[in-house]
Amino acid sequence: MTSIVLFGPPGAGKGTQAARITDSTGLPQVSTGDMLRAAVKNGTDTGIAAKQYMDDGKLVPDSIIIDLIKERILESDAKNGVMFDGFPRTVPQAEALADITEVTHVIAIEVPDERIVERICGRYSCATCGAVYHDSFNPTKLDGVCDECGGSDMKRRADDNESTVLQRLSAYHEQTSPLADWYESKGIFHRINGDRGIDEITSDILQALS
Ligand code: AMP
Repeated sequence: MTSIVLFGPPGAGKGTQAARITDSTGLPQVSTGDMLRAAVKNGTDTGIAAKQYMDDGKLVPDSIIIDLIKERILESDAKNGVMFDGFPRTVPQAEALADITEVTHVIAIEVPDERIVERICGRYSCATCGAVYHDSFNPTKLDGVCDECGGSDMKRRADDNESTVLQRLSAYHEQTSPLADWYESKGIFHRINGDRGIDEITSDILQALS
């Protein structure tokens, strides 16, 4: 069984790489950010509880996240492993994960802080299939048309604005980056330079997984 954690600051390219690793490994992508956005959209209790934290760029409380993951991991597609994207983000989340499944690889996509704001503020995605693009670094080939599925409904995340990004970055440094030491001590931590072309990064990740 392979269970991968994609680790890194907001805007590092975790979602983009997750889609590519899913294609290569068949592991389902489990993004707590996507799950929370769906919960907010559907007006569930979880969504109502999480929304203000997300709007403020703060981490949603651990208990909410851990409950979401415990439920998700029971689904049949998760039985041979999972690729976690944006989870865990705190040491208590990592400890809870260790109780329910073994993480085999942590892939840390590293991007300097000064590159994060420009990367996030130009980001958009296809509302139909979720493919992620960027105004300057990775635009769709045809303006407004998804390269992957041909959909023409592109959306931008409400929290992809400069002030929220700065708050998300500080949450990352204060609460999430300490996890690097936690995983490094377990010998499963792989650092990848994320400030390069998308293909080069994918190829390094696949090598780290092999
Ligand atoms: P993301 O799509 O991973 O950038 O997450 C968007 C927002 O959802 C974050 O800024 C947090 O408010 C919340 N969130 C997502 N995953 C987690 C997590 N593992 N722990 C706490 N909050 C999370």
